Amino acid sequence: MRPTPKVPVTQRSDPRSLAITALVSDGLVTEDSPVVGLVDTDAVLERVQALHAAFPADVRALHTVAAKAASLTPVLGLLATAGMGCEVASPGELALAVGAGFPADRIAFDSPAKTPAELREALRLGVALNIDNREELERVVALVGAQPPTSPIGFRINPQVGAGGIGAMSTATDTSKFGFPLRDPGARAAIIDAYLAHPWLTQIHCHVGSQGCPLPLMATGIRDTYLLAEEINAAAGRAQITRIDLGGGLPVNFDSDEITPDFPDYVAALTAAVPELFDGRYELVTEFGRSLLAKSGMMVSRVEYVKESGGRPIAITHAGAQVATRTVFMPESWPLRIGVRNPDGSEKTGPRVVQDVAGPCCFAGDVIARGRELPRFSAGDLAVVYDTGAYYFSTHFAYNSLPRVPVYGYRVREDRVEWSLIRRQQTIAEVVRESGVADAAALTARHEAITP
Ligand SMILES: *Cc1c(COP(=O)(O)O)cnc(C)c1O
Repeated sequence: MRPTPKVPVTQRSDPRSLAITALVSDGLVTEDSPVVGLVDTDAVLERVQALHAAFPADVRALHTVAAKAASLTPVLGLLATAGMGCEVASPGELALAVGAGFPADRIAFDSPAKTPAELREALRLGVALNIDNREELERVVALVGAQPPTSPIGFRINPQVGAGGIGAMSTATDTSKFGFPLRDPGARAAIIDAYLAHPWLTQIHCHVGSQGCPLPLMATGIRDTYLLAEEINAAAGRAQITRIDLGGGLPVNFDSDEITPDFPDYVAALTAAVPELFDGRYELVTEFGRSLLAKSGMMVSRVEYVKESGGRPIAITHAGAQVATRTVFMPESWPLRIGVRNPDGSEKTGPRVVQDVAGPCCFAGDVIARGRELPRFSAGDLAVVYDTGAYYFSTHFAYNSLPRVPVYGYRVREDRVEWSLIRRQQTIAEVVRESGVADAAALTARHEAITP
């Protein structure tokens, strides 16, 4: 039997190329706006569909998007309309999720540092709460009091199954800061006792890690969490835990346009490790971010200058650490594909030369691709940074007081690109305001007061 060929993304009349040329002809990338983020909204909706279709139709599932992957209200609003829920991990993300239109019963609140006020607000709203640690449990017990809460509440478990390929993304190590450790001496019994003592603890959560965690590792962590839920329910003599939150973390392939692994691979890995998970007794929750959004986004930057140093051509672009923070600081873990385009947006051809692609920030490490073989950049060309729909332009880093970059949504209809403004570029006045200009005299006034 022949394998079924996967339909490449480019068969949709290459919306990405159409968007890049339209970006130029519609005047959206300019001297004043030299780097932009783009979101292919059809591609986002396709990913949402793919996620829903991957799970068996007879399993109750709440698929949430991790807000930190795309903290842009219009993108979250599109996902809310498409039937997603939202996973949040700070008061800001909770406010974004509520503002974007996610109903409270489709929001899950995870954070290792929830304050009493945040917990009170979460309980008032009725959003799901994943308790991170023993002291947080005590706070929640006090807040819940005698009334059964409307929020589904449970523990975040750290199954301690080990690290994936990127240490900083691995949340299930022995000493991870996240969740209730499961394998420490006495830990399992203590978790079970806590569930039995508080019958309103009705869910359980684990998130083994993000990019770099192989599917079998994620499946093992989820299996251990499932087995714990079964043990708690057996001890309780009833189905106390009704919902298992599986976390997110499906890795993204940053090497090509191919989506691998994909959501069906995830479901297959879980089915192999713990088939009972899908027998309909538990509602399942997912919290994907990167795998939902990375491939639906890209950045396009003007190449401001091309110079040569030590024999190495270096393209100076406007896409650096402020929009590609992880790639700049951990280049081995977060390589990105770079496209070379002529000033009109057309694909640049010609012999490939080894070159660096750098950003605008004032530190030497601000390079988004090093020693890459690409058609030679010239000033005025466009550098395209692919697969950046999650955690890149939406996750601004305020280094050098660079403004937040503009972000546009696009879709292609009859080979015409339709734009929607997702976030306008931050103005310099706003950057100055953010720096505390309202209190400009705060220190000098004091200084005067103490000068003889
Ligand atoms: C970051 C995070 C996610 C999303 O991870 P992805 O790798 O983007 O899928 C989900 N759940 C929790 C608790 C997280 O911290």
